[in-house]
Amino acid sequence: MTYLITGGCCSDASCVEVCPVDCIRPRPGDVDFLTAEQLYIDPETCIDCGACQDACPVSAVQSQWDVPDDLRDSFAVNASYFEENPRDHYSLSPDREPHHLPHGSTIRVAIVGTGPAGCYAAAQLSEIDGVEVSLFDRLPTPFGLVRAGVAPDHAKTKLITESFGQALARSNVSCYFNVEVGRDLAVDEVLEHHDAIIWAGGATSDRRLNVPGEDLDGCFSAREFVAWYNGHPDHSDCTFDLSSTTAVVIGNGNVALDVARILAQPAEALSGTDIAAHALTALENSAVRKVIVTGRRGPEYATYTSGELASLTRTLGVNVSAKQTETQHLADRTDRNSMLILSLPETTEHAGGITFRFGLAPQSIAGNDSVEQVVFQHADGELEVITTSLVFKAIGYRGREVTSLPFDETLGTLPNVAGRVIDPESGDPLVGVYCSGWIKRGPTGTIGTNRVDSAETVEALLEDFAAGRLVRPVTHREDFDALVGSRVTQVVRYTDWLAIDHAERSAGMAAGRPRQKLVMIEELLCTIPSAGHTQAAAPNSAPEGGLV
Ligand code: NAP
Repeated sequence: MTYLITGGCCSDASCVEVCPVDCIRPRPGDVDFLTAEQLYIDPETCIDCGACQDACPVSAVQSQWDVPDDLRDSFAVNASYFEENPRDHYSLSPDREPHHLPHGSTIRVAIVGTGPAGCYAAAQLSEIDGVEVSLFDRLPTPFGLVRAGVAPDHAKTKLITESFGQALARSNVSCYFNVEVGRDLAVDEVLEHHDAIIWAGGATSDRRLNVPGEDLDGCFSAREFVAWYNGHPDHSDCTFDLSSTTAVVIGNGNVALDVARILAQPAEALSGTDIAAHALTALENSAVRKVIVTGRRGPEYATYTSGELASLTRTLGVNVSAKQTETQHLADRTDRNSMLILSLPETTEHAGGITFRFGLAPQSIAGNDSVEQVVFQHADGELEVITTSLVFKAIGYRGREVTSLPFDETLGTLPNVAGRVIDPESGDPLVGVYCSGWIKRGPTGTIGTNRVDSAETVEALLEDFAAGRLVRPVTHREDFDALVGSRVTQVVRYTDWLAIDHAERSAGMAAGRPRQKLVMIEELLCTIPSAGHTQAAAPNSAPEGGLV
């Protein structure tokens, strides 16, 4: 699927800001921005994330499936713009004045986390002369939730890794994968060797339902299920008992839709994706025939995006229905989510596929040793019991505390102002400590949201550098590499990741899939040609000598 602008475009460029791959033209500042009839989406580059559609204030962006017949010439209109105006510039930075360091100055920045927030920050910083980036991930593989969160049947969205990869391969970016800051190295140790650190570690825990029975066997966090089917090494040995014919998903966000779709669609539809092999086998043997997606409020409050809802309703082999007594109040609404939900057929007791239910607030999860029922309460106080042994809580991710950094327990984030981590007592910024992504703003937004988010953090960091508010490291990069090498037996560099990537793609090609993921840390590390040897942290591709 791709998105396109069909007409009625207001050219306010809200979509340009949020596009993760910079595929919308013309942008403010381009020569034809003021004269173009509308903005255009490059179909070759669009990764199908839907961020532009959500940002568009006038609903002019449509998924290709939704384009009515009389507007189908929009495909040609969008494509021909790019034939006549090939993209001469490509950037993972939002369109702002390019940054420069004062002539001759240098800065060394550590970034922790290689998900979208970390990769955007690395891309934005590394395009500036004089900047050196050290990029850390605790796994041997980069890209965070793009690899371990984006659903396997959303292959196009994963194309963003190609753009991120170009940034990570730059000569002023040094990758330290399989290195956990906070365990292998303290934050302070990293700071001794860098001018600044950006924490972009994401949200690696879950919100709690806080109802009785939540911890019974059979009640799972959607985050863990997603990580499992995507082959995240922390979750590859989990087991999910899929012997229930009915599964209940609690939550009305995009993760709830992903989980429902993966459970409900025929497993063979996933066999040509990069889903983890263990998950494919389990899904092939799954007994689940009905997935009930429950929202505690009405569909008008759902947080799933309309592009995702629309594509769910078109998933091959999956009937999607709703209980119409719970949706009829939407009749006068014109927002896309409401209209899509209203268009769904009535559910029946024996309906398979995915059923949307609304106004069901979870009260308890009941069972002796494991889940047997979920008890919901309607707005009028009436209780409803759904019998199932399989429940997924898709109620949101939550940030985890970072050793030695302040933490906001209420929000599950690092306390910060525009990306500057602050001491919550005094409100003063911690010198040289920044954050970006979900650990900064909470678990909201799509991949492209991090483009602007990281740019704000990078801006704050460079402003502090220019104002002399950072403490310069006094060491050479070699000293830091020696320190890392003394703590971590096998540091995975960017070229090592390329070897892993190649091995996964080759194995995938043999099986007719885009890649066959390696899901255990040991097997990932063994794939690297130098595996078995203690690998000193020789620079990935950083220039000799590094910064002083
Ligand atoms: P989310 O969008 O915050 O949705 C959480 C859902 O859980 C909401 O419907 C919320 O309902 C509900 N909820 C929270 N507490 C609850 C409780 N105690 N009982 C019942 N329901 C409860 O979170 P998410 O789905 O985990 O997604 C996280 C982020 O990742 C989002 O920004 C999402 O768009 C993004 N994402 C994007 C994609 C994609 O673009 N394809 C895919 C996956 C994730 P209330 O509104 O009533 O609180």
